[in-house]
Amino acid sequence: MGKRLVVIGGVAGGASAAAKAKRENPDLEVVVYEKSGWVSYGACGLPYVLSGEIPRLEKLVARTPEEFRRQGIHIHIHHEVVDVDPELRTLTVFDHQERRTLQDRYDYLVLATGARPSLPPIPGTEQEGVYTLRSMEDGESLLKALEGAQRAAILGAGYIGLEVAEAFRKRGLEVTLLELKDRPLPHWDQEVGNLLKEELERHGVEVWTGVEVKALRGQGRVEAVETSEGVVPADLVLVATGIKPNTLLAQAMGVALGPTGAIATDERMHTNLEGVYAAGDVAESFHQVLKRPYWLPLGDVANKHGRTAGAVIAGKEAHFSGVVGTAIFKAFGLAVATTGLSQEAALREGFQARKVFIQSRDGAHYYPGSQPLWVELIYEEGTGKLLGGAVVAHGHGALRIDALAALLHQGGTVEDLLSLDLAYAPPYSPVWDPLLIAAQQVK
Ligand code: FAD
Ligand code: NAD
Repeated sequence: MGKRLVVIGGVAGGASAAAKAKRENPDLEVVVYEKSGWVSYGACGLPYVLSGEIPRLEKLVARTPEEFRRQGIHIHIHHEVVDVDPELRTLTVFDHQERRTLQDRYDYLVLATGARPSLPPIPGTEQEGVYTLRSMEDGESLLKALEGAQRAAILGAGYIGLEVAEAFRKRGLEVTLLELKDRPLPHWDQEVGNLLKEELERHGVEVWTGVEVKALRGQGRVEAVETSEGVVPADLVLVATGIKPNTLLAQAMGVALGPTGAIATDERMHTNLEGVYAAGDVAESFHQVLKRPYWLPLGDVANKHGRTAGAVIAGKEAHFSGVVGTAIFKAFGLAVATTGLSQEAALREGFQARKVFIQSRDGAHYYPGSQPLWVELIYEEGTGKLLGGAVVAHGHGALRIDALAALLHQGGTVEDLLSLDLAYAPPYSPVWDPLLIAAQQVK
């Protein structure tokens, strides 16, 4: 009989690990336990279901439990793993539908328990009308809530706050975005935050920055948000103030966490316990610019973690060498892409970090419909080593970020960037690509 792989969590990291392992080694017995009612979906699409651009949540599903079963993978939804004994290699699972407890065993285990919203300690968050957005169930609840809602307040102008602000406006709601720090997307530099703020305001979002939320008012159902700058009436509140890795189960079984608080693994996604792997938002990655472990809870990273773990468990050579911290998102007409370190982060890390920020265009100036595009480059003084960058555009021009990400993976310099043979035709770029124009500004 083949060995038994048990995967805990069935979304990006878990589903990738299970599928890859079974594909590479069909003799493996593969079982996935997922405590929610959904597996293998793109949570990244949730904002676009809320906006109505994607008609149904089901569209986000990559593979249904039935499709997994046809591939010989046993999926158990509504099953929560509540305990693991790594000595005996056994698990205790609670079936939420049948309300019973089962025992199982494993030869290999993948922890893909993901992350959960981190709620700030604000009174009133337990009321009706207050939501977070993480899972398909959250998406279902928010879709229902949107039906009667008129005024939304969103706590946090990070990725989710910014994407959902657009979705709520598309659904006709009045939207106030409340951010604790002094700008939207505060983990990146000021210039990008300024562009975002203008874009949000142009589309009717009220943006309050540097604001402390004191309480959510209401008599069991939320009515308003009380802040340091005044009261915001709201019949729907979305709390999007960041996330935390779901490490409790891992910690209870003796899996070591890394310095970021997520699970530490080697390049093969193996943890400190024999036969136990971790994948996705619950696990750290190695940051190739910082040269240390880093928590980058993103969907593409989760898939790569899962695929690596699955291949290794199936007996193949595989490793995940790490991240440089690349991300992209859409806020109304703007695509905002970043990679590596912001200048603020680089300075905090002790780099002699300098930056240039330029405005160019996403096509030749004479080409009809060409639009402004902005590039920020962050580099080390003296060596010219590239540390990070951002591209903000009115569309796919922001994908230029991938050239910067590739250079960061290679440890490249601004000089290396200047020597790149980048694509040019009037509909897509000025004759000097905006990345090259930015690099030319570096003194
Ligand atoms: P999760 O998606 O958190 O899944 C973990 C699963 O494990 C959960 O379903 C949970 O129920 C289950 N689980 C936990 N504990 C147990 C247990 N004890 N027993 C059984 N099951 C358990 N990333 C991008 O790269 N680009 C984007 O554009 C993007 N957009 C996003 C938009 C939104 C609204 C959200 C919420 C996220 C977005 N992300 C994006 C992030 C991306 O969705 C996550 O990185 C990805 O879902 C992580 O997958 P995961 O499998 O590691 O974790
Ligand atoms: P986030 O970390 O991106 O942003 C949280 C924001 O909330 C920050 O700007 C922070 O300053 C602010 N904040 C914290 N406490 C606050 C408070 N008390 N009041 C007001 N503001 C407060 O987290 P998120 O937006 O919740 O998104 C969660 C995760 O989802 C992201 O880390 C990312 O991994 C993933 N995601 C990625 C994408 C993408 O890549 N396009 C899109 C959506 C979500």
